[in-house]
Amino acid sequence: MTDLSYDIIVVGAGHAGAEAAAAAANMGAKTLLITMNLDTICQMSCNPAMGGVAKGQIVREIDALGGYSGIITDLSMIQFRMLNLSKGPAMWSPRAQCDKMLFSRNWHHQLENTQNLSLWQDEVVEVIVRDGVASGVRTRMNIHFEAKAVILTNGTFLNGTIYIGEQSWTGGRIGEGAAHGLSDQLLQMGFEVDRLKTGTPVRIDGRTIHFNRLEEQPGDVHPQKFSYTDTHPLQKQRSCFLAYTNEQTHDILRTGFDRSPLYTGRIQGTGPRYCPSIETKIVRFAGKQRHQLFVEPEGWTTHSYYLNGFSSSLPLEVQVDALHTISGFEEAKIFKPGYAIEYDYFPPTQLNYTLETKKVENLYFAGQINGTTGYEEAGCQGLMAGINAVLKIQGRPSFVLNRTQAYIGVLIDDLVTKGVDEPYRMFTSRAEYRILLRQDNADVRLTELSHNIGLASDERMRRVGEKVRYTQQLSDFVNETPVTPAEANTMLEQLDTPPIQQRVRLVNLLLRPEVDMNHLLEISPELQSQVEQLPEEVKTDVVKAAEIMLKYQRYIEKEQDVASRILKFEDIVLPDDFDYFSLQSLSYEAREKLTKMRPHTIGQASRISGVSPADVSVLLITMNHKNKPIE
Ligand SMILES: Cc1cc2nc3c(=O)[nH]c(=O)nc-3n(C[C@H](O)[C@H](O)[C@H](O)COP(=O)(O)OP(=O)(O)OC[C@H]3O[C@@H](n4cnc5c(N)ncnc54)[C@H](O)[C@@H]3O)c2cc1C
Repeated sequence: MTDLSYDIIVVGAGHAGAEAAAAAANMGAKTLLITMNLDTICQMSCNPAMGGVAKGQIVREIDALGGYSGIITDLSMIQFRMLNLSKGPAMWSPRAQCDKMLFSRNWHHQLENTQNLSLWQDEVVEVIVRDGVASGVRTRMNIHFEAKAVILTNGTFLNGTIYIGEQSWTGGRIGEGAAHGLSDQLLQMGFEVDRLKTGTPVRIDGRTIHFNRLEEQPGDVHPQKFSYTDTHPLQKQRSCFLAYTNEQTHDILRTGFDRSPLYTGRIQGTGPRYCPSIETKIVRFAGKQRHQLFVEPEGWTTHSYYLNGFSSSLPLEVQVDALHTISGFEEAKIFKPGYAIEYDYFPPTQLNYTLETKKVENLYFAGQINGTTGYEEAGCQGLMAGINAVLKIQGRPSFVLNRTQAYIGVLIDDLVTKGVDEPYRMFTSRAEYRILLRQDNADVRLTELSHNIGLASDERMRRVGEKVRYTQQLSDFVNETPVTPAEANTMLEQLDTPPIQQRVRLVNLLLRPEVDMNHLLEISPELQSQVEQLPEEVKTDVVKAAEIMLKYQRYIEKEQDVASRILKFEDIVLPDDFDYFSLQSLSYEAREKLTKMRPHTIGQASRISGVSPADVSVLLITMNHKNKPIE
């Protein structure tokens, strides 16, 4: 180890650190990634899956910006499903079951082969700060590395404590040590630090599961992929399965409550409300006789299964006895117990929008250290911190996405303005402009922005340009091309929708809820030949994009209009003495919070925790009314 001086140092090679280091190096910064164990790069600490509702959109945004999470997922997946297809396109969410070992290996390979990036296995125990500016780190081996900016992505490792029943020990993940020193140093420097907790379920030996007693959940017949680059969809897939707890399971789980770290008060940190442990679920939903569990394979070549929904920190024998009451698991043997982990995080209101800390210049935090949970939430923060750290040391303007541009913008805005009171995960309901922030159009929304700062490659830009051009051509064709009753009516009758009496344009049929592009392709040879002329690599995407553009145009335009009005209204001043309690249509919580916090603008009001998008609409309508000239 001779080189001790870098532009950027990233601490921790989890999902945040890997994206941060790759982005920084790809933007030309001489980067060092230091992590406690190079053999656990991007380990999937919890479930072996990427994406899902709202999270899938984030992976696509990371990919569109030139990050690697999408590519690595495509290379590592064992099953693909597009969730929520029965709902509108704003809700469609890609999800991939991954081979977790392959996922980690693929990331390792990617990072090792990234130019400008060096890797070092060690534990960082101190950030070196000179005159209020981060300028390097000191490691457990007492090496002093110099850097112009430091990005901390320590995940669940800072003073981590693992709990199973009455046992507890320090650790960052089961089988791995915790990181000590950094939290104390930052605390002494005046940073606020707090505790959160999360948990994980048992891993089961698949050879001992009776799969014939479970409900199979195969992947999509036509699996898609995450990356907009030339990765390939899966040719074969592994199935997941559904199982259910029962009252006997719940009774057994209850016998461990007096030894539970959650219920005896040994764990103080708040856990993820939307991803509760099985013991929390049976308390919170006491009337529910069963809970659904997802049985998820952890790879192509392993027998290990992850029991999603059965996260627990109850004593080991209680976990196992309860497991044996579930149909299909009567003889199950486990590889690893479920456990909970409590760890330090830094309330993210201490950060700027670039994820740089307000207290120490050129020091950035990304990932679970900011109170989030999830690989996708971590990855996108890492990417944004990596980008902004490079821009900062190069003296260039920062790169911030707003809430109308990306889920990533929503996430960071939520973190830095509202903070967190539980591990933060993304939901579609957190985004006001869901029809704009779809998984299918992340490349169109974001790739050019990233290309402009020198991250997304020319090849990515070429692909997006091509997709936009062909989508427009195809939409124009559907908008302009007529179809006769003789061509259309058999298909319409089959779909149980009224026949047409005269020639109409294809688009008129597409606007019917029952009709999609495939139906139009069946009845219009001209459309078919138009699609056949599209390059193979963009065909599916372009057909889907044109369909969404035409079918949902009215909604998209409406939301675009609201989005641009909201951006304008960011500057609308709320009178200091406004009587919020006079607005009965505001939620009670919003009335209380607004009265207490007295935001200066509607933009600020919208970001206060407890003020919902519906409350903002009420304020907008009210202020619009009072501020007619601004309209
Ligand atoms: C038990 C458990 C249960 C979880 N359950 C869920 C769940 O249900 N749902 C969900 O979405 N997410 C869950 N997660 C969280 C998910 O794993 C994280 O959100 C995600 O991994 C965070 O990514 P990260 O990059 O911030 O940190 P991590 O993936 O934790 O990576 C941190 C990295 O930093 C390294 N490191 C830490 N400190 C130092 C140091 N001082 N010096 C050098 N290297 C250091 C570590 O070795 C590690 O490689 C769970 C995690 C755990 C451990």
